[in-house]
Amino acid sequence: MSNANAAERKEILQNLPSVDEVLRTEAGQRYAESEGPAAATANARAALDDLRRRFGRSSDQHVKREDLLSAVEADLARRLIHEQASGLRRIINATGVVIHTNLGRAPLSEDAKAAILQAGDNCTLEYDLETGKRGRRGGRVERLVAELTGAEDAAVVNNGAAAAFLVLTALVSGGEVVISRGELVEIGSDFRIPDVLETSGAVLREIGTTNRTKLADYARAITAETRMILRVHPSNFRIVGFTASPSRKELVTLAKESGVVFYEDLGSGALVDLSQVGLTDEPMIADAVAAGVHLVSFSGDKLLGGPQAGIVVGRKELVDKIRKHPLYRVLRLDKLAYAGLEATLQSYRRGEMFETVPVLRQLAASAQEIRSRAEKLVDALYDLTSVNLEIIDGTSAVGGGAAPATAIATYLIGLSNEKLSANEMESRLRMSNVPLIARIENDQVVLDLRTVLPEDEELLQQAIRQLDA
Ligand SMILES: *Cc1c(COP(=O)(O)O)cnc(C)c1O
Repeated sequence: MSNANAAERKEILQNLPSVDEVLRTEAGQRYAESEGPAAATANARAALDDLRRRFGRSSDQHVKREDLLSAVEADLARRLIHEQASGLRRIINATGVVIHTNLGRAPLSEDAKAAILQAGDNCTLEYDLETGKRGRRGGRVERLVAELTGAEDAAVVNNGAAAAFLVLTALVSGGEVVISRGELVEIGSDFRIPDVLETSGAVLREIGTTNRTKLADYARAITAETRMILRVHPSNFRIVGFTASPSRKELVTLAKESGVVFYEDLGSGALVDLSQVGLTDEPMIADAVAAGVHLVSFSGDKLLGGPQAGIVVGRKELVDKIRKHPLYRVLRLDKLAYAGLEATLQSYRRGEMFETVPVLRQLAASAQEIRSRAEKLVDALYDLTSVNLEIIDGTSAVGGGAAPATAIATYLIGLSNEKLSANEMESRLRMSNVPLIARIENDQVVLDLRTVLPEDEELLQQAIRQLDA
């Protein structure tokens, strides 16, 4: 409802700055510089409209022209911050969650980033330099993956969900797939195994119970219609206690005897043995292949540490069938991801993955290493007056649905501030020039340097300095 009378409203409207005036302010200039003149004009106009509505309801009779202008300017500045924050921004991950799906999962190696930059130009995506003829997209990546997993062949698509969907569509569609009830899981908010199965045209044969499924359950479910036994790694949760499921070896044998395909969706799937860094229950892709599993799929941007991709490895005739299916073309990977993946796999081939692939380097870092980095950082901020920093025990997480039960010992930097609450500090860090994403634990902002790239520590310091009044 309007409180201002007609005369007052008229006065306010007359005092309202013009769009041009708003564009000439500092905020107007900055908006145009960042987003272009058309967007600046549209937003200046929208800010003026908002003001007109707001003051149309105000009972304040003496709104000065300067005040109106600065109100519009402040609104425009807020609009620019909002615009910029809503885009894809580089951030510093101080959450201690190594594979953080909301934060872009695996940070890439320097080699992978450089390869992506180069592939941004024209590149040999489907071109054979030696013959000057058309080459196969991703041919080298497929060979590297096969080599590193001991598989006969490999196919790569857009992501892990696409890989599972493609395998089921190409090999089961219309037939039946046998799966344990304990593996009808939801992985992330938008990938439910039952939905994927149904959409692929595969007929689901659920067997066993949530906690126990036996080999005999599998054997009994196999009929003339059965095309596949599917096993899904329950990535993001663990059923513990009274549980049972047949061994991989038993299922390999059963699949062979029954003439059906045995496919395992391993999810994050490690290319190397991660028990050396304390992850004891992460299945290795090569082990599944060696055990005789026909097909195995996994993501490129989880424990592998590369860009988003879905990788299928296994028997040559099955992989060929997958590559020939029309869906393969639909789900194919783009050149930038191929470039990043190839460079990441190259690190594995050279045996340098624990030094160069950030996910592995971060998982391998000892608590003592993290502690000494944290101590150096705290020392460098000795001169802060209102921010207090302390080093405390804590845990990091693998994330990305891998090893949900594993907590990695770490040291955290706890921040406190006489003048700011934990929530206020967290939000200020989040809105820094290079956003710093922290955790709040026990009403305290905590930073875990395990997931912070060493070269970002300077930026992290700057963000903390801005909390000091
Ligand atoms: C993560 C995961 C997926 C999905 O992979 P995306 O690369 O996220 O599409 C599928 N299956 C399992 C078991 C997973 O852990």
